[in-house]
Amino acid sequence: MQSIKLKSGFEMPALGLGTWQLKGDKCREAVKKAIELGYRHIDTAWIYDNQEEVGKGIKEAKIKRENIFVTSKVWTENLRYEDVLRQCQETLEQLDMDYLDLYLIHWPNKDVNLSETFRAFKKLVQEGKVKSIGISNFNAARVKEAKEKSEIPISVNQVEYHAYLNQENLLKTCKENGIVVTAYSPLARGELFDDPILIKISNEVDRKPGQVALRWLIQKGLVAIPKASSEKHIKENKEIFDFELSSRQMNDINNIQVRKRLVNPGFSEF
Ligand code: NAP
Repeated sequence: MQSIKLKSGFEMPALGLGTWQLKGDKCREAVKKAIELGYRHIDTAWIYDNQEEVGKGIKEAKIKRENIFVTSKVWTENLRYEDVLRQCQETLEQLDMDYLDLYLIHWPNKDVNLSETFRAFKKLVQEGKVKSIGISNFNAARVKEAKEKSEIPISVNQVEYHAYLNQENLLKTCKENGIVVTAYSPLARGELFDDPILIKISNEVDRKPGQVALRWLIQKGLVAIPKASSEKHIKENKEIFDFELSSRQMNDINNIQVRKRLVNPGFSEF
């Protein structure tokens, strides 16, 4: 599995399994299956209410803890110092793990000073409970603010990113600050499967449009975390490391004119 070096010094696998909306046995089985098929990175969050099943799936796959990269996120209403520490502990207990590879602020919260949240993140890193820290759903201005307010390096910004939401400016800001961008909803939840440009390119490279959409992200230097529940989908999404898109194909996708943001909850500021 291809991986990317983070500012913290740790490596992050370029493809992970998203688990939002995966619950119960379905979640446990998808996580186990993904690891058996070669995934080495699982994305969850406290708010997904599935961390116990994620932990069980990882255990059942019988992989050593150091060989799997686990990301979780502290919820936006819990960004005060003590709340962060408490929620991280709950997450570790639910996953039945000693540490997280990556811990993210799930959404910004304008009512809590970022410095306070990052102080808690620093303590978690010092205690060995978290290896790398990051942010999620931060726009370019907030990325710069976060960088100023954290005493330890911010490794990742996880945002919605797909062929229908090519956030080039945000990507540039993150790259300039040494922050890796993880693309969530990388398949635009299936909305881009019928896209004529992706279909044309998928015929040229003899792949599925979804595989082309994921490959495009990887070649742009992003990490992608598609969610899938069936073995067929989990397997298909991983088969993106044995072909390459040409610069013309990359540019054709860069220039897709559709702009569609799928995640824009009411509590968000943007
Ligand atoms: P997504 O990964 O773009 O799309 C998931 C959907 O695509 C599911 O309905 C899945 O169906 C389907 N699918 C997956 N692979 C397929 C394939 N090969 N062929 C056909 N259909 C396929 O959307 P997402 O779940 O919104 O995003 C992925 C992950 O990002 C989440 O699970 C979560 O971990 C993370 N995320 C983070 C945030 C945040 O605020 N940080 C927000 C949203 C999402 P099946 O399940 O039936 O396979």
